[in-house]
Amino acid sequence: MRKKIVAGNWKMNGTYEDGLKLASEVIHMVQDEVNSDVEVVLCTPFIHLSSVGKLTKEVPNVHLGAQNCSEYTSGAYTGEVSVQMLRSVHAEYVIIGHSERREYFNETNQQLAKKVAMALSAGLTPIFCCGEPLQVREAEQQYPYVTQQITESLFDLSEDDMKKVVIAYEPIWAIGTGRTASSQQAQEMHKVLRQHIANRYSEALAAEISILYGGSAKPDNAEELFACPDVDGGLIGGASLKSRDFLQVVKACK
Ligand code: PEP
Repeated sequence: MRKKIVAGNWKMNGTYEDGLKLASEVIHMVQDEVNSDVEVVLCTPFIHLSSVGKLTKEVPNVHLGAQNCSEYTSGAYTGEVSVQMLRSVHAEYVIIGHSERREYFNETNQQLAKKVAMALSAGLTPIFCCGEPLQVREAEQQYPYVTQQITESLFDLSEDDMKKVVIAYEPIWAIGTGRTASSQQAQEMHKVLRQHIANRYSEALAAEISILYGGSAKPDNAEELFACPDVDGGLIGGASLKSRDFLQVVKACK
């Protein structure tokens, strides 16, 4: 059985104090109110990681994630954060290839392949983001576009490594726009991606990979999205910044 995961992507929001407050609220609510085996992941800004990690490491189903990592091991890379640094503060997950990093920081599929391999080498679980812009969807080219992202960034991995990757399908036109993919659009893409992985590796391996949906998921649409057979949870932006909203999304993932 593949894992159900709901990950909050806080992006560059809030102060350090805001982050600690949000993390402790979410942790308490999850402890008190969530009895499913969904894995909750808090992907915080780098400077919050160490403190939030001290809280999450005491709680079995809440995990710590970063929003990016360096493709280099260590050394003269000013401003970068290595996978070993992330591990040393108890991070278990790292978002790789978010569309905002692809767009504003020019991250390419080839560079993301290096980051995924680096994360896996340190025992971190990559949450690999993929998704098409609006023009591509309008031209009905979304399947070749997104499968190519997967091929170029993930398909050099060994079977053992590929099994450890989590994928997040995030149509760019749905991120932060209030415009969600319909559950049918999400299901179709997730099914195509799972088949693509099955063709390269095996049906058994594809069946083990968690594929999350991201893009304006919130309390009033999460249940319908998460009910799709190939949707294994969500990567949540805006709605992860309010503890009560985030908890509602977590509870919708059964
Ligand atoms: C995201 O940035 O990963 C995301 C899904 O954002 P939002 O939920 O705000 O659309």
